[in-house]
Amino acid sequence: MEKVILIKYGELSTKKDNINFFLKKLKENILFVLNDIDVEVTYDLGRMFIHTKENFSKVVDRVKNVFGIHEMNIGYIIDSTDFEKIKIEILSLLKDQEFSTFKVESKRANKTLNTTSVELSRNLGAYLLKNISGLRVDVNNPEVLVNVEYRLKNTLVYFESIKCLGGYPVGTLGKGMLMLSGGIDSPVAGFLTIKRGVKIEAIYFESPPHTSREAKDKVISLAKKLAIYNNDIILHVINFTEIQEAIYKNIPHDYLITIMRRMMYRISAILASKRKAKILINGESIGQVASQTLTSMSAINEVVSIPVIRPLACFDKLDIIDIAKSIDTYETSILPYEDCCTIFVPKHPVINPSKEKCHEYEELIPYKDLIYEAIKTHEVIKITAKEDNNEFKDLL
Ligand code: ATP
Ligand code: MG
Repeated sequence: MEKVILIKYGELSTKKDNINFFLKKLKENILFVLNDIDVEVTYDLGRMFIHTKENFSKVVDRVKNVFGIHEMNIGYIIDSTDFEKIKIEILSLLKDQEFSTFKVESKRANKTLNTTSVELSRNLGAYLLKNISGLRVDVNNPEVLVNVEYRLKNTLVYFESIKCLGGYPVGTLGKGMLMLSGGIDSPVAGFLTIKRGVKIEAIYFESPPHTSREAKDKVISLAKKLAIYNNDIILHVINFTEIQEAIYKNIPHDYLITIMRRMMYRISAILASKRKAKILINGESIGQVASQTLTSMSAINEVVSIPVIRPLACFDKLDIIDIAKSIDTYETSILPYEDCCTIFVPKHPVINPSKEKCHEYEELIPYKDLIYEAIKTHEVIKITAKEDNNEFKDLL
């Protein structure tokens, strides 16, 4: 009998012909987060197994953030399909534990066992009652839930389940470019997109000296939080100062935000294409601010042909905040550093911008040259989720 970590796939198991592609990637992603731990990962179409002699809770702690896993269990592989032997092994696992109520649940993939799952549960339950004194069955609220999976070549048993994040393994659905600001919304939008298997790179627009080093560091910290789910992340930092100043000086102020966002979209789309990202992702939510009315979104969106995914389009702010707290980005997002949008924000931004006016105003600035320059000079930062490894620092 071997103690292992068991992985249940959830939605992944609905994949038919290409399930192996998803499972291979899931294994790769698990090994990525465990790359400094001695483990072996094996799998079949029903389950994945992590074999290790190291601390299980350390492994579980890392793996629980890997998308594509529905549930994890710390359990045992019993190398037998003989019911009598299985009963003895399960008894040996339970007889020294302190508990008084239990329930057995059985799954039977091995149809050669000539009986039903209910019968197997009953039979094992009766055996445990007979061999451990003071025990009682409680089907509603048992202290110990004995899960047994009777498989073709072996048997799995586990007592505890750890609910995981679900979704698809990152990298199975291609790449996307996340417009990442220092706000609450865009990290959440990024998280939800990674969850669908999309590997993201991020783009951040800064306007020094109007925006500070702290504002940029805040975005780097947010990217680091997302890197946990994304297997590292590449952050593109665009210097937006000249473009923003040109807009501010030359364009009627009620259109500042609309034009500014059209420029951001254009730059993001060019970079996405250079980096082979198939979608743009942002944190827009219908109605949240003037630039997120349907007319605004349409006026802004018209400058790109790449699909723009807005995972939060229909979310209430309070629900977005709940997710931000659960992924630990909220406290960073509310740090009070100025964003490039907030500095140049007009008193009365247009709520229903006209596309014709956008075209007319944009002719007032040499925006193509400015965009070209901003992309040419942009900074690329590779951000990893892991703590910096200072082990060899003294030797350098
Ligand atoms: P908040 O959480 O306060 O709404 P926000 O970052 O969502 O902050 P918005 O003005 O609502 O701010 O911007 C809408 C979306 O546009 C953001 O979610 C983000 O995807 C993108 N965006 C805004 N500013 C930037 C920026 N400086 N760099 C990159 N993307 C940005
Ligand atoms: Mg927002």
